[in-house]
Amino acid sequence: AKKQGKDQYTVFDPEMRASFQKHLEMEADLRRAVLRHEFQLRFQPIVRLRTGEISGLEALVRWLHPERGMIPPLDFIPLAEETGMIVPIGEWVLREACRQASGWNARRPADTAPLTVSVNLSAVQLERADLPDVVQSALDESGLPPHCLVIELTESLIVDHRPETLNRLHAIKALGVRLAIDDFGTGYSSLAYLRRFPVDIIKIDKSFVDDVGDVPAAAALTHGIIQLGQALQLSTIAEGIEDAEQLSELTDGNCELGQGYFFAEPLTADAMQDLLFGGQQG
Ligand code: C2E
Ligand code: CA
Ligand code: CA
Ligand code: CA
Repeated sequence: AKKQGKDQYTVFDPEMRASFQKHLEMEADLRRAVLRHEFQLRFQPIVRLRTGEISGLEALVRWLHPERGMIPPLDFIPLAEETGMIVPIGEWVLREACRQASGWNARRPADTAPLTVSVNLSAVQLERADLPDVVQSALDESGLPPHCLVIELTESLIVDHRPETLNRLHAIKALGVRLAIDDFGTGYSSLAYLRRFPVDIIKIDKSFVDDVGDVPAAAALTHGIIQLGQALQLSTIAEGIEDAEQLSELTDGNCELGQGYFFAEPLTADAMQDLLFGGQQG
């Protein structure tokens, strides 16, 4: 191989040192954040497209950094996964999401179906043998019925089919919890896994929804995914609905559920409560 530049063999130039330093700092900050509970949840409504009623919520984590302000998940989840800190963070997300949803359900009129709450799960969490116990205890301590909890997994996580992973998903499923495939259509999936994995819900990735109103190929793929869901008796949720055109295309295509800025952005617990109960105190 040809030598491409004088920095080729330099292991620790000043720029790398700075970025390494920053990485260490961020890691220390994240450790402190776990101890000091610097995380918050946002809740985005999941809407029944035909009626507009709210059928559930997706819990999305945020890090409120004391100096840097609100840090979005994509800026710290990778580091949290790399360092294993996603395990305590993810466990907090799960418990807090169940607690909130259960409290809101208790205030809803008896003749309305209870809200579901969806929680994102990282592959690192699924490597832990105690995950089913953690899920069970989050349900027990919150009183949330198991069928109201949805665990969202990405395709890459599902395609990695070590037997332990599959067994653990079955164990979670056996608790009565439902499983969703997130970002459907973006991973290296074979459709075969839809039969093997105990999945209940498909979430159609935003990249399809973005173009569903104006790119015929995107519309065809979206409708194909919805029909696949119907054939397998799975619910379909369209992600990232931003305008009325996308909504009508999806509704016409018989997509059951959706979420996106067109309905609501991810909301603080207080704002979610106002949306659900019209600002009544309680
Ligand atoms: P995701 O699970 O696919 O979540 C949907 C993301 O799209 C959220 O970003 C949400 O705010 C955003 N979104 C929703 N509707 C719209 C829309 O109409 N337009 C646009 N442009 N965006 C929309 P967010 O909250 O920044 O989360 C990003 C990702 O971080 C999530 O993608 C998920 O993969 C991950 N994440 C979030 N919370 C958690 C968590 O508690 N645990 C784990 N492991 N990952 C999480
Ligand atoms: Ca998700
Ligand atoms: Ca998604
Ligand atoms: Ca459009």
